[in-house]
Amino acid sequence: MRLILLGPPGCGKGTQAQRLTDKYGIVQLSTGDMLRAAVKAGTPIGQKAHDIMARGELVPDDVVVAIIAERIDQPDARNGFILDGFPRTVPQAEALDRLLDEKGLGLDAAIELKVDEGILHHRIQKRVAEMKARGEAVRADDNPEALEKRVHAYRLQTAPLVSYYRNHGSLRTVDGMAPIADVSAAIDRVLEAPKDKARPAKPAAPARARSATRKRAAPAGRRKAAKRVSKAKARATGKARAARSARKRVAKKTRRKAINKARRRG
Ligand code: AMP
Repeated sequence: MRLILLGPPGCGKGTQAQRLTDKYGIVQLSTGDMLRAAVKAGTPIGQKAHDIMARGELVPDDVVVAIIAERIDQPDARNGFILDGFPRTVPQAEALDRLLDEKGLGLDAAIELKVDEGILHHRIQKRVAEMKARGEAVRADDNPEALEKRVHAYRLQTAPLVSYYRNHGSLRTVDGMAPIADVSAAIDRVLEAPKDKARPAKPAAPARARSATRKRAAPAGRRKAAKRVSKAKARATGKARAARSARKRVAKKTRRKAINKARRRG
C-alpha cells in the first residue's frame, strides 16, 4: 500500500498516518520529521533547512525529493509507505511520479483531509499544549506567525495537488473536521471501496446544461443523417445530369451526321 496524505498544517495528517502504519504494516515517511531530525543532527541539509522551516516556508524541492528518493529505497519501505507532508508542490508530485515509475510502482491513493482553515490555529494550539504536557520540545514553527505562513504556503503551493491527484484518478477526499475516530473510519472506507467506486464520480452537469447537451446532441445526429442523404442525392443528381448531357451530345452528333448526309445527297 502506497499512500499520500494531503492537507494543511494541523489537519491531522500525522495522527492518521500513525494509525495507518499500524493497520497496513507500512512506514510513515514524514518529510517534516526527517528535516527536523536533520536540523537536530546539524547535517548540511539540516543547516540549510533550519531557517526556512522556522519561517514556515518550504524547503527547496530538490532537497526534499532527494530525501524521499533515498528513503523509499530502504528495505522497510518495500512493503509500502504513507507519505505525510510530501509532496507539497506540483514539481515534487511530478518527481514522485517519476521515482515510482522507474521502480514500476504506483500509488494506491492520495487522501485529502478537508478542513476549514479557521480550525487550524486552534488545533496547533492544542498540539503545543499536549507537547508541553508531555515535556516535549515545542516545534519552532508552531507559533501564530509561522503558522500563518505555513497555511499561506499550503494554499499557494500545495492545494493545487488536489486537482493534480484528482486528474490522476487517485484522489480520495475525507472530512477532516470530524472526530479522529470518524476520520479514521472514513479513510478506511475510501481505501476499502473498489477503485471505481471510490473514484469521485465526474460531477454531473447542471440540469439546464444537461438538457441543453441533450438538445444539441439529438439534432446533431439528425443533421449527420440528413447530410448523408443530401450527399447521396447530390451524387445521384450529378450522375443523372451527366447521363442526360451524354445522351444530348450523342443525339446532337446523330442529328448533325444526318444533316450532313442529306446535304451530300443534294
Ligand atoms: P510538517 O512537519 O509536514 O508540517 O513540515 C514542517 C516544515 O518542514 C514545513 O513547514 C517546511 O518548512 C518543511 N517541509 C516538510 N515537508 C516539506 C516538503 N515536502 N517540501 C518542502 N518543505 C517541507
